[in-house]
Amino acid sequence: MTVSAVLSGKLLFEFRTIGAMVEIYCKAHHPLKPAKGLCDSCCEILSYAETRLDRCPYGQQKPTCNKCPVHCYKPEMKQKVREIMIYAGPRMLLPHPIMAIKHLLAERQPAPGKPPAGLSNRHLRKLG
Ligand code: SF4
Ligand SMILES: [Zn+2]
Repeated sequence: MTVSAVLSGKLLFEFRTIGAMVEIYCKAHHPLKPAKGLCDSCCEILSYAETRLDRCPYGQQKPTCNKCPVHCYKPEMKQKVREIMIYAGPRMLLPHPIMAIKHLLAERQPAPGKPPAGLSNRHLRKLG
């Protein structure tokens, strides 16, 4: 399971879901990686996603990134994550049914408005 030292709650669940998808994708596309774990490129994507989640201005009320009006990902990272989700999304149901169903339900939610101030995880951690 993908581990994060900075995320919690919904953000951590989403990070684990992305981690599971990256594992499925990496296993199929990057066979020349170390025997265990992800290749360097997929590690970089996952680390980038963790930072974006940590800094998400919606915090625990985060919508699905697909419908987000902020679009905080760099274009090339957005494209890579999109490729991973297209490949791994349909392959999630058997190994990770709860993550797959929650992900599908989140994708069906309407697009949110602009994020209210002060909801980001980073902001909350600073207060704590
Ligand atoms: S794309 Fe939007 S929802 Fe996704 S992490 Fe960035 S700001 Fe948050
Ligand atoms: Zn990989």
